Amino acid sequence: MTHRNHEDNTSPTVAVLGLGPMGRALAAASLAAGHPTVVWNRTPGRATALVAAGAVLAPTVADAARRASVVIACVINYQAARAVLSSLGSPPRGPFVNLSSGHATEARDLATWAAQRGVDYLDGAILTPAPTIGTPAATILYSGPRDLFDDSLPALESFGGSSVHLGADAGTAAAYEMALLDLFTMSVGGLAHAFALARAEGIPPAAFARFARGIGDLLPDMADRFAEQLTSGTFAADISSIASAGSAVTHVVDAAAARGIETGPLRAVQSIIDRAVAAGHGGDSYARLAESLVPADHP
Ligand code: NDP
Repeated sequence: MTHRNHEDNTSPTVAVLGLGPMGRALAAASLAAGHPTVVWNRTPGRATALVAAGAVLAPTVADAARRASVVIACVINYQAARAVLSSLGSPPRGPFVNLSSGHATEARDLATWAAQRGVDYLDGAILTPAPTIGTPAATILYSGPRDLFDDSLPALESFGGSSVHLGADAGTAAAYEMALLDLFTMSVGGLAHAFALARAEGIPPAAFARFARGIGDLLPDMADRFAEQLTSGTFAADISSIASAGSAVTHVVDAAAARGIETGPLRAVQSIIDRAVAAGHGGDSYARLAESLVPADHP
């Protein structure tokens, strides 16, 4: 691993590969921060506004990377990121930072593959939507060699908000992203399901939203309580028990079934609760469910 410093320690030349909504936001933020910015996209025609704002459009990945001291890839998935990496020709002279989404194993595999080709690879996961980029609301996690993160920081800071390095394992950022995406997916699925059930009972969406907000407000404190209990391994049911949740979910399954609404997601939760109760944890708090999700015989 070669430790590199930017030419003048203040203004790296940044290449952004991939100009979907997120890639365009990253490139615009880089330009706004005053960094010379080179852009490339597989399909032409997506760089017009960026070029008008001062970006240089590179004809190939290799050309973009050759001009840059930090290369940022932001494409749809790791398969596409690997295709972009394959087009580099020779390793870029600075860090290659992959901000495309995927899971931890993909990140580790691509890091190994890149290292075998002499590429200084840093992985990253963007946790906030494209409009946050370049604002204090952005959060981007990174993992991989610390010196690559430090070298890239002048470029990464232009993306705004928090740039957090989580450690040397390239898979860590993606692991956080997947667990958070899990939370987001289940929450949005729950929200859609709840609106469907409310509407089936004749409740106007706006009237329901007023009270649905209150459920969301419970989650921050619950996240802290889950963390405390999973860390300590004690699951005191001070507020509500798994057995009580089991009873509540049965009512909701019945209500949804009566209205012909899909019950699959609810039954999945019900079966996790049933498993915890069968294992003797009915009197414990909800946090215990995180343990009941992993089969006992899993290595
Ligand atoms: P998309 O996820 O829709 O990705 C589109 C980009 O991927 C385009 O530049 C597309 O090129 C490129 N691409 C797809 N396949 C290939 C390939 N085989 N080779 C080269 N390039 C390819 O757009 P976003 O910009 O929204 O997202 C980019 C990444 O950022 C994704 O991994 C996404 O999960 C992540 N992200 C996005 C957020 C957002 O708010 N948009 C929020 C957080 C993360 P082409 O134009 O040629 O099709």
